[in-house]
Amino acid sequence: MSPTYDVIVIGLGGMGSAAAHHLSARGARVLGLERYGPVHRRGSSHGGSRITRQSYFEDPAYVPLLLRAYELYETLERDTGRDIATLCGGLMAGRPDSRTVAGSLLSARTWDLPHEILDAKEIRRRFPTLTPEDDEVALHETRAGFLRPENTVAAHLQLATRAGADLHFEEPLLRWEPYRDGVRVHTAEDTYTAGQLVVCPGAWAPRLLADLGVPFGIERQVMYWFQPDGGTGPFRPDNHPIWIWETADGVQSYGFPALDGPDQGVKVAFFRKGTVCTPDTIERTVHEHEVAAMGSHVARHAPALPGRFLKAATCMYSNTPDEHFVIARHPAHPASVTVACGFSGHGFKFVPVVGEILADLALTGTTAHPIELFDPHRLSTIHAPGVRP
Ligand SMILES: Cc1cc2nc3c(=O)[nH]c(=O)nc-3n(C[C@H](O)[C@H](O)[C@H](O)COP(=O)(O)OP(=O)(O)OC[C@H]3O[C@@H](n4cnc5c(N)ncnc54)[C@H](O)[C@@H]3O)c2cc1C
Repeated sequence: MSPTYDVIVIGLGGMGSAAAHHLSARGARVLGLERYGPVHRRGSSHGGSRITRQSYFEDPAYVPLLLRAYELYETLERDTGRDIATLCGGLMAGRPDSRTVAGSLLSARTWDLPHEILDAKEIRRRFPTLTPEDDEVALHETRAGFLRPENTVAAHLQLATRAGADLHFEEPLLRWEPYRDGVRVHTAEDTYTAGQLVVCPGAWAPRLLADLGVPFGIERQVMYWFQPDGGTGPFRPDNHPIWIWETADGVQSYGFPALDGPDQGVKVAFFRKGTVCTPDTIERTVHEHEVAAMGSHVARHAPALPGRFLKAATCMYSNTPDEHFVIARHPAHPASVTVACGFSGHGFKFVPVVGEILADLALTGTTAHPIELFDPHRLSTIHAPGVRP
C-alpha cells in the first residue's frame, strides 16, 4: 500500500521549504520531495545574500505581502535562532524618472512607508563609497537590507521536520496524475498519494508545469564578489546599505555591503540582462569578459570596485513575460493542485509569505492575501474547459 499524505510538496528550495513548514505547522501530514540535497546550489536560492525592501518599484500591490513577509522572517529567526535578516538600509538610485526611483517612490507614497529622497550631493555625503552622477537621486529606505537564503531554506526545513514532515532528498518527482479526490505521485523509489499537491519547481517550471501554458523564460544570472580597493571597511553592513542602481540606459545592477568579513568581499550583479538557459544546459563557468563587464559597470557608481575579483557563481531566474509571479490553484486541477513559480528574479524576499499562501490554498482552497496579480490566466495560452479566457 502506498504511503498516504494530506499534502505533497514538490521542490524544497525557497518556496517549497516554506510551504512544507507552514503546512506541517498547521497539522497537515506533509511529504516533501526534492531533486537534490537540502540547501543546494543548483536552483535559485543560493549565493549568500538576497535583497529585501518594501518600497517596491515592481508594483505597489506587492507591499502588503512584504509587510507580512517581514513579520514572518522575524518569527523564523526567533524560532530557529538562525541569522537570516539584516536591515542595513537600502538605496534605490537612478534618474528621478527611472523605474527604480519613480516606482519605489510610488509604493512608498501609496503605502505610507518611511523613506527619504536623497540628491546626488547627499548620497555622496552619507555614503562616500558611492558616486552618483549629478542628475541622479536615490530613495533611501531604512527597512531595506539583506536576507541569507541558505539559512532561510535550512530554517524552514528544520521547522518542517520538527513538525513531523517527511522530507525526501535526492528523490525527484517523475510524474503525477489525478487519483480519486487527490493525486498520485511517482518517483524512482515509490508511489505516494495525497489529497493535495503543491508544486514549487523554480527553474524546472517549464518541465513540471508545461500544462499551465505560461511561457517561462529561464535565465542564467551571475553573482560577482570583488575585494574593494582599500578593503571592505567602508562597506561593513553597520554603515553601508544595499543598493539598486539604474543607469540612464535602463540597466539595473545591485550590490550588498561586505557581509561575511574582510576576506569575502562585496557582492554585485546585474538585475536581469541574463542569457537564456535550462537547468540542464546552464553554463556554470563565468568568463573573464563577464567579470570585466561587471567591473567596469559597477566602477561608475562605486569606484572602490571592482578592486580585485574574488569569485563568481551562477543562479537561475524563472521569468514570466510581465515579471510578476504565478501563485494559484492550478487552472486544470483547481481542487487538488497549487502552483508557485515564475518568481522572475525577485521572489526571495517573499519566501515565508508565499509559504503561508500555499498552505492557505492547499488546505482551504483560498487565501486572504492579495494574490490577484499572480493569476496564471493573465499569461496562459491554454484555457481549461470552464475557465475564463
Ligand atoms: C542571482 C540571483 C539573485 C537574486 N536576487 C534576489 C534578491 O536580491 N531578492 C529577491 O527577493 N529575490 C532574488 N532572487 C530571486 C529568488 O532567489 C528566487 O525568486 C527564489 O529563490 C525562487 O525560489 P523557488 O523555490 O521558486 O526556486 P528554488 O529555490 O530553485 O527551488 C526549486 C526546487 O525545485 C526542485 N525541483 C525541481 N524539479 C524537481 C522534481 N522533479 N522533483 C523534486 N524537486 C524538484 C529543485 O531542485 C529546487 O530545489 C535572485 C535570484 C538569483 C538567481
